[in-house]
Amino acid sequence: MTKYEIVIGLETHVELATDSKIFCSCGGHSSANEPNDCVCPACCGMPGMLPVTNKKVVELAMRAGLLLNCNINRYATFDKKSYYYPDLPCSYQITQWFHPICTNGSVEIKTKNGTRTIGIKQIHMEEDAGKLVHDDWTDTSLVDFNRTSVPLIEIVSKPDFRSSDDVLAYLENLKAMLRFAGVSECEEGAMRCDVNVSIRPEGSTELGVRTEIKNMSSLASIERAIKYETARHIDALERQTEVLVQETRRWDDIKNRTFSMRNKETAADYRYFPDPNLMPIVIDDEWLDSVKASMPASAAQKAEEYKGYGIADKDVEMLTAERNLCDLLDSVIARGCNPKDSVAWILTDCAGILRKNGQIMRNLNISGKKLARIITMVGKNEITRAAGKKVLAAVIEKDVDVDEFCRENSLNAQTDQSAILAVVTRVLDSNAAAVQDYLGGKQKAFGALVGGCMRELKGNGDPATIRSLLEQELEKRR
Ligand code: ADP
Ligand code: MG
Ligand code: ZN
Repeated sequence: MTKYEIVIGLETHVELATDSKIFCSCGGHSSANEPNDCVCPACCGMPGMLPVTNKKVVELAMRAGLLLNCNINRYATFDKKSYYYPDLPCSYQITQWFHPICTNGSVEIKTKNGTRTIGIKQIHMEEDAGKLVHDDWTDTSLVDFNRTSVPLIEIVSKPDFRSSDDVLAYLENLKAMLRFAGVSECEEGAMRCDVNVSIRPEGSTELGVRTEIKNMSSLASIERAIKYETARHIDALERQTEVLVQETRRWDDIKNRTFSMRNKETAADYRYFPDPNLMPIVIDDEWLDSVKASMPASAAQKAEEYKGYGIADKDVEMLTAERNLCDLLDSVIARGCNPKDSVAWILTDCAGILRKNGQIMRNLNISGKKLARIITMVGKNEITRAAGKKVLAAVIEKDVDVDEFCRENSLNAQTDQSAILAVVTRVLDSNAAAVQDYLGGKQKAFGALVGGCMRELKGNGDPATIRSLLEQELEKRR
């Protein structure tokens, strides 16, 4: 039997992290609560309404292009792609056809078999379509336009994948990169792929007939769809079970197989033409340079930096998995906090509070200024570490003011020597047995006495002051 090589190319649609849609000022997809509460005459395709390009979309597309080593083209157009479907109110989608914004890039992926380079054919900007909701009760289809005109980039790879492992490694890498750079939140469903699959005899350099499986978002389903589709192709060639045609197919997750949807449209079917309502985008050096300058460091660069501070590898890995953690750490370090100490506050204390509230690190929302204030107060013994944790919880849960909260809850550490001395004397007087034990050589008794003082001071006594005054007073009683 001939040995076959699997060839896969991906078209990945990614929802961009903007506050508004691509051509109108409606809020982004996530700002909608009810169907059709995030729509306006422009994104609903009312006659006479004109689109206006959202600058942020162009900048995020440039950012994606820079991440994927693409050429950023200095002249880009928006073009109309015409087709009829009820979720598309204008009967055309605004996309880029003649002059996409980014071309010719590459990205490295790490797989079981080592590092491979995947070519990127292009990245273009486009608007998303609405959503059809099938209502079984009334046996009708309803249209929700909230998603209409939500900005997307489509990242078109070259047919460079040779296995589903390659595909999954690429998608995971892409997701991490885009999220870290703030291009997309990449939440559930915000990254959708069309998976193009073909096979060819091993050693051949010609591409085989491909089929395109539309709109896949779960990695597990992508893996199964590739497995099914390659087996079907091999069967077709080996056993003449069917004649392969270039077509679009749909994956059925329950039946665990693909179904033919339609023959592949050609460009002519879509009647592409430049959208006369949108100015071509001209990117000059100044704009490109400013986008380059605003690019956040990559996760890999951050990891190097943190390792330089002596932060443990596993902590570095946790920090660089989430942009918000890196931003927070950078911000507290910039405010003069010690890096290792700050990492403990973030990965132990903040994490503990989130876990208790059933949240994940991605949800951590505390300003660097407030965390730095807490770390500094504890560092200077203005509050105890235990008190620091209390304020931290209040800041994370209720965003309280650090100093105000400490004042109101009497958390400020008692460093007043005479007040602490009074407490120490009282505790020694009323714990004669423990004093005798200590003087008789039982070191353990000292801890009990510290605890006694701490309780009297409601947990806010400065531990160092307590210890030194205790030692001093105990010596006097020898
Ligand atoms: P079209 O313009 O017809 O959509 P493209 O050249 O843009 O075709 O390719 C679309 C996607 O299909 C790309 O990701 C590309 O890598 C992939 N592709 C093209 N030919 C094949 C093939 N024979 N096998 C697998 N993937 C392919
Ligand atoms: Mg295509
Ligand atoms: Zn709108």
